[in-house]
Amino acid sequence: MKIIMLGAPGAGKGTQAKKIASKYNIPHISTGDIFRANIKNNTELGRKAKVYMDKGEYVPDELVVALIMDRFKEADCKNGYVLDGFPRTIPQAEALDKALLENGEQIDFAIDVLVPDEHIIKRMSGRRACVGCGATYHIQYNPTKTEGVCDVCGESLILRDDDKPEIVQNRLTVYHEKTQPLIDYYTSKEILVEVDGTKDMEEVFSNIVNVLGK
Ligand code: AMP
Repeated sequence: MKIIMLGAPGAGKGTQAKKIASKYNIPHISTGDIFRANIKNNTELGRKAKVYMDKGEYVPDELVVALIMDRFKEADCKNGYVLDGFPRTIPQAEALDKALLENGEQIDFAIDVLVPDEHIIKRMSGRRACVGCGATYHIQYNPTKTEGVCDVCGESLILRDDDKPEIVQNRLTVYHEKTQPLIDYYTSKEILVEVDGTKDMEEVFSNIVNVLGK
């Protein structure tokens, strides 16, 4: 099964993507996570991507497409994947379709997690990320057992630069301009599924499972 997660930054698509990956036994591929790992390891790709990410802007299409095509070559992708944060622009979606078509394949579902902008800004300011392993939490909705300390690896938590309110506003503007057109793109392919992302995390997931199958 090949799935794309759509939705504004902070809509909870990452959380849902991880749950889908675990239930259907397919890899969760987050381009944002791949970039952050590269930044942490100070690779050339990481240095290039950071310039854009710190401003809340998109990394250029050719960098993202090259990265994802490389990732697809890994063995764990043979039964499909859930893509979180890719594609984010029409050229990226077209590059993905073209690459799949060459192997007679296609995306099965594009899941749009719908959350209004006001909710997003409130949510993102409470988000915390671990400096060690990248695990994410929310001070209100998904807190750690000990405040400020990662449950997974014990390192400290931070508000990511790109989760700061002024940057979030810019990310939302960029999202509406560049990623919203993908909704029409996947609607016309008749694979778009819309779910209400303001609901409780488990309810959102069960609505997704109802569509994907048990
Ligand atoms: P995320 O964790 O998915 O919200 O991604 C964090 C940041 O990484 C985004 O704000 C972009 O700067 C960059 N990024 C991740 N995926 C893409 C993509 N498909 N196209 C362009 N930029 C991306």
